[in-house]
Amino acid sequence: PANAQKIDGGAFAANLRQRIAAEVARLQAEHGVTPGLAVVLVGDDPASAVYVRNKGTQTEAAGMASFEHRLPADTDAETLLSLVRQLNEDQAVHGILVQLPLPDHLDSDLVMNAIDPAKDVDGFHIFNVGLLGTGQKAMVPCTPLGCLLLLKDQLGSLAGLNTVVVGRSNIVGKPMAQLLLKESCTVTVAHSRSRDLPAICRNADILVAAVGRPEMIGADWIKSGATVIDVGINRVEREGKQRLVGDVDYAAASHVAGAITPVPGGVGPMTIACLLANTLTACCRINGLPEPE
Ligand code: NDP
Repeated sequence: PANAQKIDGGAFAANLRQRIAAEVARLQAEHGVTPGLAVVLVGDDPASAVYVRNKGTQTEAAGMASFEHRLPADTDAETLLSLVRQLNEDQAVHGILVQLPLPDHLDSDLVMNAIDPAKDVDGFHIFNVGLLGTGQKAMVPCTPLGCLLLLKDQLGSLAGLNTVVVGRSNIVGKPMAQLLLKESCTVTVAHSRSRDLPAICRNADILVAAVGRPEMIGADWIKSGATVIDVGINRVEREGKQRLVGDVDYAAASHVAGAITPVPGGVGPMTIACLLANTLTACCRINGLPEPE
């Protein structure tokens, strides 16, 4: 029987956004401060354009100021860097996000590291990566932060649990591993060169899949009762229709897992909610105000 609990990331994210909106209203009323998020999109990748539009809409819905900067695909590095420097100086901007991936001719490390770390709401600046890795107060990347919030809501303390993160990107896999380590999990990070991945995954009390391969993880990779977080967003064609599927075979995994995030409606909505949370946090820190929980 398919008895895994569906982890409703959509509902959790909606609740989080409501709490953020209430905090934003309070900041405005008590301190006259409006958190502002600037999003920079270079080029016209259709998926990125959708993400950027959603970010703008949800930023405004939370009562924050949204600044969108669209640059052509052939923008040179100096133009992009000077925009970043201008946003670093802009008092109305508390969060800066440069949408990845950038066109090939632009060096994303260089651009990420040009962002003021205090405004680095994506948490990709090496300064924030270092803070997270040493257990200090950092800006934490939004997708793994969203995964962690869902896990803690589901399981309470994560201490001592065996966790397997499949994927080692700087955006998801590595920061996810750092966060789980900070929660006192035993952490395994697997990737494309790992040997006998199914056996590694079967050890996991918590399995986080961040690979980008449609339904790669089947039921026989999952320990009975495990909590499965599916970060993957893969566009596939099924019966002539475009569909989104995760890295986990949801239907099959539901027979084995204890709880699992669906795609869509799991990790996806948490990512933007955490972006808003990070923007609010950045605004409070920059203005020397107490941070919300
Ligand atoms: P990357 O392509 O940067 O990283 C993928 C990782 O998966 C790499 O570490 C790679 O290993 C590993 N991998 C690839 N193939 C295999 C395999 N056959 N077996 C084991 N490991 C493998 O992707 P991202 O981390 O940026 O994203 C991962 C997925 O999450 C994508 O589907 C993306 O769309 C989605 N995503 C979703 C977000 C959300 O909001 N829900 C946000 C960000 C991403 P190696 O390092 O050895 O190459």
